[in-house]
Formats: sequence, C-alpha cells, structure tokens
Amino acid sequence: MRDGTDPDAAAPGPGPAAALLDWYDRAARDLPWRIGPAARARGERPDPYAVWLSEVMLQQTTVAAVAGYYARFLSRWPDVAALAAAPEAEVMAEWAGLGYYARARNLMACARAVAKDHGGRFPDTASGLRRLPGIGPYTAAAIAAIAFDRAETVVDGNVERVVARLFAVTEPLPGAKRRLAALAGGLTPAVRPGDHAQAMMDLGATVCTPRRPGCGRCPLAQDCRARALGLAAELPRRAPKPEKPLRHGIAYLARRSDGAWLVERRPDRGLLGGMPGWPGTGWTATPPEPDPPLAADWRDPGAEVRHTFTHFRLRLTLRLAEVPAGIAPRRGAFVPAEDFRPSALPTVMRKAWELAAPLLPSRCDSNGR
Ligand code: SF4
Repeated sequence: MRDGTDPDAAAPGPGPAAALLDWYDRAARDLPWRIGPAARARGERPDPYAVWLSEVMLQQTTVAAVAGYYARFLSRWPDVAALAAAPEAEVMAEWAGLGYYARARNLMACARAVAKDHGGRFPDTASGLRRLPGIGPYTAAAIAAIAFDRAETVVDGNVERVVARLFAVTEPLPGAKRRLAALAGGLTPAVRPGDHAQAMMDLGATVCTPRRPGCGRCPLAQDCRARALGLAAELPRRAPKPEKPLRHGIAYLARRSDGAWLVERRPDRGLLGGMPGWPGTGWTATPPEPDPPLAADWRDPGAEVRHTFTHFRLRLTLRLAEVPAGIAPRRGAFVPAEDFRPSALPTVMRKAWELAAPLLPSRCDSNGR
C-alpha cells in the first residue's frame, strides 16, 4: 500500500548522511561499549568483543536494561578467551533476568568458536561473522560496521522508524521490512559507515522517537518527507498483530524445613533451556494434569504467575509444600538456602518464587537468618 506520493520518485537529497554524521559528532550517546566520535577521530578503535557482547545483549532489550549486565560480564570476563573458558552455569546465572536464554547459550558457543577456531579474534566481515553461532544478519552487520567500519547497513527498529519517516513509506510493517532495508542501504555512506550506523540508531532512540518525533531538532528535517506531509507521528504503520495463544502449566515449589528449595535444571533444548526452574508440568493449550515431583501435602495458594513469551502467554498455577528433611524427590534436587540465588532464576521462575517465598517461611527464616 502506498500513499498519494511516490516515495521512490523523489528520494531525499545527497545531504542526509553528511548531516547525520555532523549531528552524531555533536550529539552521540555516551554508551559504555561505544568509542565515541571524538575518540574515534583520535584513532581509538572499538573492541570487537565489547561490540559483540553489547549487540547480543541488546537484541530484544533496552540500553537501560543491558547496562548493568554488560558491566558485570565485562568485569568477570574481560575478553573472549575468558568468556570461552567460563563455566556455562556461571554465565547462565549472570544472564538470568535478561531473557531469551538461547542468546546466552549461543554467546558461550560463539565465544568458544572464536577462541578455538579464530585464535581469539572475531572475523572482520559480515559474512565471516555470520558463520559464528548465534550471529544472524543483523548482528553480523552491526559488528562489521561498528567494530570494523565495514559499509554494512544495520537495520533495527529505530532505523526502520527513521527510514519509514524519511521516505514517507506508508506500507505497514512487517511487510515493509525489505523495502525499508533497501532504502536504509541507499543511505549508508562509504565514509565512516560505523558511525553512520550508530548515528541512525541514536537518532531513532533520542530524536525520531515513536510517539513524539523531535522534528524541530532533527538533522534530517530538511530531507524528511513524512515531516513535510505531516505524517511523522503516524509512521511506521504496523499490521495488527494476531493475539498470542495462551498456555497453562503448574509449577511445584517445595521448601524443606532447613530452608532448601527443590529446583531442577531445565533441559538444554527448548524454552529457558539449561536454566534453573521449579519442577512442573509441560506448558500446554489446556490446563495440564497434576505431576508433582514428590509426595507432599501440596496446597493451592490461589495465585498464578502470568508471563508473556515471544510466541505465547503463560498462566502458571502454583502448588506449594513444606517438606521434612530426608525426603527424596522424583525430580530435581534440593538447593541449600545458603546456595539458593533467586537472581539466577529466569524471570518467570523468579515471579513464582516471589509469590511463594512469603507463604513458605522456613525455620531458618524465623531464626532471623
Ligand atoms: Fe524523524 Fe522528524 Fe527527523 Fe523526519 S524530521 S526523521 S520524522 S525526527
């Protein structure tokens, strides 16, 4: 679908890329993984490991949410060799809460591949990077552009928004993705492509924002067709999303009298693979049959966890039990209170623990520990 104008007939003039770089030199965000334009002009170059780590963390996540995780990862594992040698359980625990746990497993696989097969150096082209585990077209383009100044076009949600407005593309997403990527590619300069990629992201994050674009302070205002047409805040359009299906499950939270929690490691493959969690049923379209991990007086606290994953919504019913020392579970293992770290649980499991913990005080808690 197109509007009355033909966006391809009159592309923005030759100035947008230059105007954008000029703006970036003045207004670049100060991000912990970034070598800013002034430092870059002095000859500093980004650490590909830092760029890769930040880009993997930033997939589906905001800069604000990532900053603390990034600092902790870099402090514990300052280079790719250190990360490649780290125990997987420690990396997964440090990742807990960032979500999309397949990313953490791919992070480990990628670090090991770089350490083992590439002498600890990341390939410096998008095609070479794409052959590494967990690096798709977007991440490969971002690392190649930002770390190695390759003329790759990096298209995230921010960039799609800027381009849709700049060219007044009224075709809705996701159908317009290829068209927006092609238009973004036409803007990518041969000079400073890495800074251009970061400038586009910054513009989308700080000026050309979703609801109230700051056209009055935008370096692309002169060239922007949506601004001229009064369409800026309406773009990009999006096709209505189908509602995510609902699944049901039961999680069993058992606490021993000494404060230990019954925890099991989820299978390596599948959702939350390799992460610690509560024993429970599968997550199914209809409420599942009970499947407790041990014989106990399970009680229903009348509370459920609601959580939304990428492809479905989950209602997780809880069952709670206080159990005596010496009981042997059919599944999972008891983790002593001193070793139990709620922060190492994935978000949905932590939500369950937050509901259950006040209802299952152990003797250790009442002793003031
Ligand atoms: Fe976005 Fe406005 Fe700039 Fe156009 S002029 S790119 S709509 S901020």
